[in-house]
Amino acid sequence: MAGDLIDIATARELVLAAVRPLGSERVPVSESLGRVLAEDLSAEEDLPPFDSSAMDGYAVIAGPEGQLEVVDESRAGHPAQRALAGGQAIEISTGALIPEGADAVVPVERVEVSDGRVTVPQTQPGANVRRAGDDVRRGQPVLSAGTLLGPAELAVAASLGHSALPVGLRPRVVVLATGDELVEPGRPLGPGQIRNSNTIALAAQAASAGADVVDTEIVRDTLDDTTAVLRAALESADVVCVSGGVSVGPHDHVKPALAELGVEERFWRVALKPGKPTWFGTRDGKLVFGLPGNPVSAMVTFHLFARPALRALAGARADDTRVSAVLDEPLRRNAARDEVVRCRLSIEEDGWHVSPTRSDQSSHVLTSMLGAEAFALVEAGEGVIEAGERVPVELLH
Ligand code: AMP
Ligand code: MG
Repeated sequence: MAGDLIDIATARELVLAAVRPLGSERVPVSESLGRVLAEDLSAEEDLPPFDSSAMDGYAVIAGPEGQLEVVDESRAGHPAQRALAGGQAIEISTGALIPEGADAVVPVERVEVSDGRVTVPQTQPGANVRRAGDDVRRGQPVLSAGTLLGPAELAVAASLGHSALPVGLRPRVVVLATGDELVEPGRPLGPGQIRNSNTIALAAQAASAGADVVDTEIVRDTLDDTTAVLRAALESADVVCVSGGVSVGPHDHVKPALAELGVEERFWRVALKPGKPTWFGTRDGKLVFGLPGNPVSAMVTFHLFARPALRALAGARADDTRVSAVLDEPLRRNAARDEVVRCRLSIEEDGWHVSPTRSDQSSHVLTSMLGAEAFALVEAGEGVIEAGERVPVELLH
């Protein structure tokens, strides 16, 4: 730590300590992708639900080689109409119900059929039979509360008969960008003006983190405008992310506006490069992130602090995306602040490797975010981390 700056881990803890999960709702399984499961899910039925055939072939009573009479057929979705007795076989398809009396299946490739009779080799009990509950037994826990629902989780839930799932509410987010210099893409640039990219970046990051972005807006650099827009944002959002205007310049109005609105400061300024002026505060369970205006700093600090908060508000378990990776290029340490270096990942014989996306890692070089698959976390200190040394890395996903 340097001066009154706090370190990344402490800042994250302060953010997560302020999170109160938002509650839950039931949503059709088909619409639950990317949501967070709100309750433990157990199997209410066996999966598969009945003993079934693993092959196309003949259901038999296990025993020695012999010739059997084919008396019926069991197809997927259309079980045989009769039970199997000695000396008999029932033709069966993959996934079809094993007929009563049968305890094995002989694959079609291993039989000879002629005149309604089938010659089968010696067969062991259970051969080519998938047992009911092989995959999941009734009553068994399958998914735990806090799980992020991906395609596999949705498929398992559906296979167990769930048509809807309890999921955490999506945090409502308002994204604001302060700056008189900002012009939306598509409009002509006047002297001294720049494109607004932060609302685009932050709204996209928020949506990727499962949030419902209810509004994005540019805020002019006056205390009145900043206060008015933030007041409205605090009405409609669970989380407000505002970029820029959070330093101590004469045109930085975010902190005084938030103070006037009763948002309590939890921290300001992190020993982080890029992202030093990051501000965080709360009001009645609502979270406000004052992120730096520099486009890279805004994205990096969103990822480090706002993203985990959004996930936690939806009820997600903390995900640990830290690994260690071999550095492919030397990196000079910053004396006072931990540095986040945007990196490409590669996999070599000794595990993950990282190399910076661009050698210029300045906070205004937005293209250094392109192709970034990981943040290398370079601890503050003296000297250089040499190529070949390991560094902690946070995977972006
Ligand atoms: P500030 O934190 O307001 O002093 O802004 C720091 C730097 O980030 C300045 O160069 C701004 O022009 C730039 N910046 C601020 N907001 C945005 C934005 N929404 N999109 C792109 N650049 C921005
Ligand atoms: Mg500004």
